[in-house]
Amino acid sequence: MKKREINSARTPVYRDSGFELPTAGTTSGAFVSETSHEREPDLYIYSRYRNPTVVAAEEAIMAVEGSEWALLAQSGMATIDIALSIFQEAGRTNKWLFFSEIYGGTLSYISSVIERRRGLQVSFFRPSGTIYDYDLLERMLAEVRPDIVYFETISNPLLIVAEGRRIISMAKNYGAMVIVDNTFATPLLWKPLDDGADMVIHSATKYLSGHGNLTAGVICGNDRKLMQDAIEYRKFVGHMLSPDDAYRLQTQMASFELRFRQQCDNAAGVAALLQASGEVERVLYPGLDTHETHATALELTGGRGYGAMVTFDLAGTTPKAKRVRRDRFIAAVWPDIRLIPTLGDNHTILMPVEAVWGAKYPEPGMIRMSLGFENSDLLAPVIRRGLEN
Ligand code: PLP
Repeated sequence: MKKREINSARTPVYRDSGFELPTAGTTSGAFVSETSHEREPDLYIYSRYRNPTVVAAEEAIMAVEGSEWALLAQSGMATIDIALSIFQEAGRTNKWLFFSEIYGGTLSYISSVIERRRGLQVSFFRPSGTIYDYDLLERMLAEVRPDIVYFETISNPLLIVAEGRRIISMAKNYGAMVIVDNTFATPLLWKPLDDGADMVIHSATKYLSGHGNLTAGVICGNDRKLMQDAIEYRKFVGHMLSPDDAYRLQTQMASFELRFRQQCDNAAGVAALLQASGEVERVLYPGLDTHETHATALELTGGRGYGAMVTFDLAGTTPKAKRVRRDRFIAAVWPDIRLIPTLGDNHTILMPVEAVWGAKYPEPGMIRMSLGFENSDLLAPVIRRGLEN
C-alpha cells in the first residue's frame, strides 16, 4: 500500500511500537533532538518515548486545564510517581510534606516506596476533625522546610475542601514546590496552576475519562524544565499510556464538562434528599451549608459546583445496627447503584467506608457515593428505596 495522508479530522490510533525513520542521518538527528525532551517531537522514534495519539489526548487535556503541557501515563499512580520522583536527587532531598487526607493508594506508595525503599523523609499534616488548621500548617512549614507540599483539593472520603490558594501561597513563602491532586475537583471547579501550583495531577481513570472503562493519569504544568524532567523520567521508567487508551480518553474528554456538570447536579440533589431523611445521621457534601468547609468550597470554586461525591452516615443506635442498615441500603439500591471500588463512573456507584478504610475511618454506617450522570429523575426513587429498607 502506498503511504499517504488520509483526510481524517481525527488523530488515529497509532499502534506503532517504533516509527519508521527515513535515513541514518535523520535517525541521528531524531536521537539528538530527543535529548531536549520536547512535548511533541518532530520525528517520533518509539512509543514509550512519545506517541502521536497520546500527544493528541494530552492536547485535549491542556485545553481543559489551560496548561502549557500535559503528560499522560498508564495510571494516576504512575503520574504521582513521576511528579514526585523528579524532585528526588541523590543525597540532596529534603523532607516532603503531605496532607494526610489523600488517596489511600498514595499513602501506601509514600510508605512502601518513598520511605521504605528510597529512604526519603516525609511529614504529614493532619486535619482536626473535618477541618484544616492553617496556623498549624504554617508552623509545620517553618519547622520542616519541605521541598514539596502535596495535597488534594477535595479529600476522600470526608470531602474536606482545602483552601487551595492559601496553601499554595504559604508553601511558596517557604520555597516549596506545590503538587495538587485535583482528581475530585477537576479543572471545572478549580485550576491550581492559575494560582501558582507547580504541577497538577489527575487520575484520568475518573472524571476525565468518565465511563469506568480505562485507567490513566495525567500531570499538567506550565514550567518547561519540569516538563522535560517529567518526560525523561516517564520515558526511562516506562510510565506511558497506550495509544488505544489515549484514543478513548480523548474521545470521552469531549463530553467531560457536560458530564461533570450533570454529576455535580446529581450529587447536590442526592445530598439534599439524604439530609432531609430521618434515616441518615449526617451527610458530608461540600455543597451543603452544614459541611464545615462549605464556605471554603464556595470561595475556591466561585460556586461552579461542589464535586460529585457524597458521603453519608446511616442512622443506628449501635455500630451493629448501623452495619445492618448499611448492608440493607446496599442490597436495596442494587442493581441501579452497585458497589464498585472506584469513582467518577458514568453510573452512580458506592463504597462502604469502614470496609475499605478500616481503622482510618471506623464508621460502620458510612457510605461514599460517586454520582454518575444518569437522569436525576431516575436516582431519587432508588435512593428512597435504599433508605426505606
Ligand atoms: N488520586 C486520587 C484522588 C484517587 O482517588 C486515585 C484512585 O482512586 C488515584 C489518585 C490513583 O489513580 P489510579 O487508580 O488511576 O492509579
